Amino acid sequence: MEELKKATLENKKSCSQCGAELLYKPGSTVVHCDYCGNDEEIIVNENGFEELELKPYLEEMGSLSHSEEILMLRCNSCGANQHIQDNYKSLNCVYCTMPLIRDDAKLESWILPGAIVPFQLEVEKSHSIFSNWVKGLWFAPNNLKKAALDLENTKGLYLPYWTFDAQLNAQYEGERGDYYYVTVSYTTNEKGKTVRKTRQERRTRWTYASGTINGFVDDTLIKASNQKKNTIPAKISNWNLKELKPFNSNFLSGFITEKYTIPLKDGYFTATKEAKQIAKRWACRDIGGDTQRVSNLDMKLSEETFKHILLPIYISSYKYKGKIYQFYINGQTGSYTGSRPYSYFKIAILVLSIIVVIAIIAMLSKQ
Ligand SMILES: [Zn+2]
Ligand SMILES: [Zn+2]
Repeated sequence: MEELKKATLENKKSCSQCGAELLYKPGSTVVHCDYCGNDEEIIVNENGFEELELKPYLEEMGSLSHSEEILMLRCNSCGANQHIQDNYKSLNCVYCTMPLIRDDAKLESWILPGAIVPFQLEVEKSHSIFSNWVKGLWFAPNNLKKAALDLENTKGLYLPYWTFDAQLNAQYEGERGDYYYVTVSYTTNEKGKTVRKTRQERRTRWTYASGTINGFVDDTLIKASNQKKNTIPAKISNWNLKELKPFNSNFLSGFITEKYTIPLKDGYFTATKEAKQIAKRWACRDIGGDTQRVSNLDMKLSEETFKHILLPIYISSYKYKGKIYQFYINGQTGSYTGSRPYSYFKIAILVLSIIVVIAIIAMLSKQ
């Protein structure tokens, strides 16, 4: 059993020229010093990333290598668990804007990320995407435009995910359905007369089928963060996992990192359900024919491995009239989506002016 590595994320790299804090520069493989302009290369493990064997971690978490302790702040309002670096002056929850107290931070053990998709999009770019989106909104309240310009509201966040790999083997029983067509005659009423007609109808011939399927299930992605309301929209969840890099804590420098709140074994449970769906699809393909029924599926997974990975998003959470709205940008691809308030005052003004115009036209046409 290896000793726990204590809070290595706290041991930030400082500039070799001037001693200031180095921050990760999106789209690059360097950490950058804002004071003297020095860039330092992030050395990533040349051997690629390690897939961890699943079974020992499911049985015993915390006493294994690849786990360590990290300082975490939990939001009492929405449950998000976030690691906030010192360079963030404001301490508001990235999801629900609730103020967080730095003294409440606790050391928690976590399974070290095995791989990361580093930010590609600069924070300035994320601001301009957000403010352009806001400017393009019809009937948006003026306060929203103010919130959009407040740079403190947009934060870069690494989201936690689990990915699972496994060798899948399954035996199945079921039925293969082949379509055939029969001619059916029927009577109908045409111009008051009863006439006989025929039509083609589709039938299915079912035959028993059974067999064995084998294959490798690669990178089943399961979200590892679970809050009541803050689900990451599917529209921005389009990360390219081919760009995963071996984990290095320098990539986190300057960003917020969220700790998984869905434990490994729960993530694994979801992944197993997904594997069963995959096995079912493979069985259907194996059965062939026009349609299939699978009545029995005995699935075994072996050589199971997993990774804890981090994926980048920018998130802008703002409060308007007591309600939280969020804007998301994928930190790798730049795709974005957001929810927005409407200004009912502006809409009312527009409706009123339309009524006035119609009234004027009506009056002019009477004269
Ligand atoms: Zn420096
Ligand atoms: Zn929160």
